[in-house]
Amino acid sequence: MSQIIQVQVTPEQAKDLVFLKNLILNELDLKTDEFEFVWRKRSIDARKKQVKINATFEIYLKGESIPNEVYYTSQDVSNKKEIGIVGAGPAGLFAALHAIELGLKPIIFERGKDVRSRRRDLAKLNKVGVVNSESNYCFGEGGAGTYSDGKLYTRSKKRGDVLKALKWFVHFGADQDILVDAHPHIGTNKLPQVIVAMREAIIQAGGEVHFESKMTDVLIDQNEVKGIVINNDKKYSFDKLILATGHSARDVFYLLHHKGIKVQAKPFALGVRVEHAQELIDKIQYSGRLNDDYLPPASYSLVTQVDGQGVYSFCMCPGGIIAPCATSDGEVVTNGWSPSKRNNPYSNSGIVVTVNPEDLPGYSERDPFVALKFQQAVEQKCWEVAGKNQKVPAQCLKDFIEGKVSVSFPRSSYIPGLKSVDLNEVLPSFIAKRLRKAFIDFDKKMKGFLTNDAVLHAPESRTSSPVQIPRNSETMEHITVKGLYPCAEGAGYAGGIISAAIDGMKAIDAIAQALNEN
Ligand SMILES: Cc1cc2nc3c(=O)[nH]c(=O)nc-3n(C[C@H](O)[C@H](O)[C@H](O)COP(=O)(O)OP(=O)(O)OC[C@H]3O[C@@H](n4cnc5c(N)ncnc54)[C@H](O)[C@@H]3O)c2cc1C
Repeated sequence: MSQIIQVQVTPEQAKDLVFLKNLILNELDLKTDEFEFVWRKRSIDARKKQVKINATFEIYLKGESIPNEVYYTSQDVSNKKEIGIVGAGPAGLFAALHAIELGLKPIIFERGKDVRSRRRDLAKLNKVGVVNSESNYCFGEGGAGTYSDGKLYTRSKKRGDVLKALKWFVHFGADQDILVDAHPHIGTNKLPQVIVAMREAIIQAGGEVHFESKMTDVLIDQNEVKGIVINNDKKYSFDKLILATGHSARDVFYLLHHKGIKVQAKPFALGVRVEHAQELIDKIQYSGRLNDDYLPPASYSLVTQVDGQGVYSFCMCPGGIIAPCATSDGEVVTNGWSPSKRNNPYSNSGIVVTVNPEDLPGYSERDPFVALKFQQAVEQKCWEVAGKNQKVPAQCLKDFIEGKVSVSFPRSSYIPGLKSVDLNEVLPSFIAKRLRKAFIDFDKKMKGFLTNDAVLHAPESRTSSPVQIPRNSETMEHITVKGLYPCAEGAGYAGGIISAAIDGMKAIDAIAQALNEN
């Protein structure tokens, strides 16, 4: 039987195979070096001055073989029961792959383009500030996750589900390391190939993937789904439909509402994206040491309470770039991505304040869009004050605390450019106030964080959906519409790539169960 051992080593020792082999030999008191070992877990412990690596190894003695696990199996589903899936983000893709596993035929409709064509629209967005409302950082093959950092960690405690999703990523081309690292990530340069491999597998099994195919209507009869209309033209019939349209498809929320399908306001978070030099973050987190061949660029996770509400870092991208993530003209939105090596000289993260619909001006229980309208108004105001293009309003961090307009900025990774403003006057005052207090607190946790060499880019507003599409917790169907499965981030049931992927798989489980019961 294989054996597991846990040890703590230096970053250099963690990459020294001879050292590790001897260490295991001694730890297990083995008489022979005829054994093999594999990494099972790897995490960085930077709490003390000497940074350490926590390592878990599985050891296979002579005669034992390392299991060769098959992570995903396909089958021909071309003539099987058809399941409609709207949205080719992580939720839609994982739902489709799981449908195939269970012998169902997935048909995906995606408003955006395939990854390669999408890239051209992103280049235009960055270079000329033109937003294509159907093809951008949020819409297109792979959804919002494609051109991201590809961080694959989640707060979900369901280790089995998380591991399954990670294994599928590996099956479709991601590095094995994601199964081992405590904070796995893939990177923008590698994600598109993985997404394409998923699409090809879906089509090869007999499923369908339609790009530039926007759901413009959902057909309901007597509270049961009957199908959808694509591009105001073609009708498709389905009695099981997964809605995995993400948090930026505002038209979908309005469509449902106008058809009398219940949607409701939900809390979300809004703030700014802060950018530091990666070197500074390394020095703070690694007690003066910089990232190198042995230690990855450092990350951080910060949280505090201000006036009884949470303020926290979100989607931190070491070695990353801040991206223009608007989905229509007349607004600016930031988010971050990084390549697999995370080797840019910048580090960025969203610093966001929890926004509760009840606390917003004009709140009414009957208005499901109060939080969405608030989010949109901030994005539009930022667009206006920054010059009505894709530049963002910006301010050096210390200047923000002191209410001074910044005279100049250090280099920023945000390609469309910055406009110097006092963000205290641009952001809603309760957001600005909580951010100011939080940054002062964060500086106590990470000495040197609060510096004028850091720049705030506004707004970070698409953290999660400001609208929920309510569903039955057992059947996963909409609370009043049979056969409609609101899924993942857009419906308010996931936040991030892995939790969205897991929710997509769960929607298929719920559909399979409903089909079995009939
Ligand atoms: C730049 C960036 C970086 C990010 N980095 C990370 C990260 O490192 N780690 C992480 O966990 N998360 C990250 N996220 C968030 C993550 O991408 C999302 O949480 C995740 O993609 C949500 O998955 P989803 O399937 O629910 O929705 P989405 O990924 O939003 O996918 C929804 C899809 O539905 C399509 N769609 C919408 N409306 C329609 C319609 N009417 N008809 C047809 N199709 C439609 C959209 O075009 C889109 O492709 C990042 C997001 C961005 C924008």
